[in-house]
Amino acid sequence: MDFEFNDEQREVRDLIRRVAADKIAPRANEIDATAEYPHDMFALLKELGLFTLPFPAEFNGANSMLSACIAVEELARVCYNTAYLLVVQWTPFGAILAGGTDAQKQRYLPGLASGALRAAFSLTEPQSGSDVAGIQTRGERCEGGYRLNGSKIWCTNAANSDFIVVAAKSGEDKSSRGVINFFIVEPGMKGFEVGAKEDKMGARGIPSCALFFDDVFVPEENRLGPEGEGFKIVMEALNLSRPIIGARGVGLAQGAMDHAADFVKNRRAFGQQVSDFQGVRWMLADMAIQTDAARNLVYKVAAAVDAGVRGPELASMSAIAKCHATDTAMAVAENAVQLFGAAGISNEYPINRYFRDAKVLQIVEGTNQIQRNIISRALLK
Ligand SMILES: Cc1cc2nc3c(=O)[nH]c(=O)nc-3n(C[C@H](O)[C@H](O)[C@H](O)COP(=O)(O)OP(=O)(O)OC[C@H]3O[C@@H](n4cnc5c(N)ncnc54)[C@H](O)[C@@H]3O)c2cc1C
Repeated sequence: MDFEFNDEQREVRDLIRRVAADKIAPRANEIDATAEYPHDMFALLKELGLFTLPFPAEFNGANSMLSACIAVEELARVCYNTAYLLVVQWTPFGAILAGGTDAQKQRYLPGLASGALRAAFSLTEPQSGSDVAGIQTRGERCEGGYRLNGSKIWCTNAANSDFIVVAAKSGEDKSSRGVINFFIVEPGMKGFEVGAKEDKMGARGIPSCALFFDDVFVPEENRLGPEGEGFKIVMEALNLSRPIIGARGVGLAQGAMDHAADFVKNRRAFGQQVSDFQGVRWMLADMAIQTDAARNLVYKVAAAVDAGVRGPELASMSAIAKCHATDTAMAVAENAVQLFGAAGISNEYPINRYFRDAKVLQIVEGTNQIQRNIISRALLK
């Protein structure tokens, strides 16, 4: 039974499921193996018009977090990297939509919506990831704007981006609690450099790079939101998109289970199909139970976002869904590799790709320990 999908959501699911099977699945292993940015997959998403799904109708979006989750789930089921292409486009879009001026919206959003522009989002620094307040990149005021100095790491999509939304501290207070602003930085700006890409275990198709800022002048009109307030506005808006990370976990778990079920039906041991051993059947059943529970949690939170739930209630629900769905992806992918036997370790089969990509999900967008902190804080309040 569908989770109260409307017609549009059913259409999104059916369309992407079809395209994923026909055009994306056949490319997934190659993207992972070569770790080359999949321009063809970006072009395909562009053709399908998926870059505004969670956003309002004025950008041709469906204005639906549930639709966004369905799309990401169906893509992640066959190719984590292609699903990631959607998410990296949505993050700067959501940031500018929430905190941008009218001029910034006019300048950047139509291009992001159509796929004419690509962007990235950068918070993490060598000394601070979870501890966002510990960033040290500075954006000092100067005539007409700001001077950025410092460095970032793990900026996904930076190498292919037309602009990057970058967090930096401004103002007199240089302590760990200084004022954080977001700035729109473009590749041509003097003193700005995108470093080499990380050699990653998972999420290999979309490069993550270091960024370097050597006295980069950023005009005032490139700051998001009012001085000192943009950070809160943007981060609150981005919290709404946490179910999307859970949806990647659900899709990944479903895909790993699909592969494992196929494999055990076709593999024989002790004179019978491996799928006929009760121990194997129970493993598959547990994988299905966990995946379905995660799916329902993610859909529930996405539907809550669409219904206008906000604040602490949503923060805790979102953290529960992200944590459970991505832990499920890891557990299911691990069992899927186990069911493949030695073939699970061989790069000839797709399954260890799911295992490696699942690990990334437990770390990005707030590690699962940080999610547990959010959940327990709400619980003990
Ligand atoms: C593939 C990939 C893509 C990424 N893309 C981006 C991107 O586009 N933009 C960007 O800004 N960042 C990006 N990141 C960075 C990511 O957001 C950070 O890695 C993440 O927030 C964790 O930060 P950290 O690696 O510094 O770990 P740390 O914060 O140093 O944490 C180390 C360990 O300590 C635990 N820990 C830390 N604090 C606590 C606490 N209070 N309680 C309990 N445990 C704690 C963590 O959970 C973790 O297990 C990406 C990372 C990866 C792997």
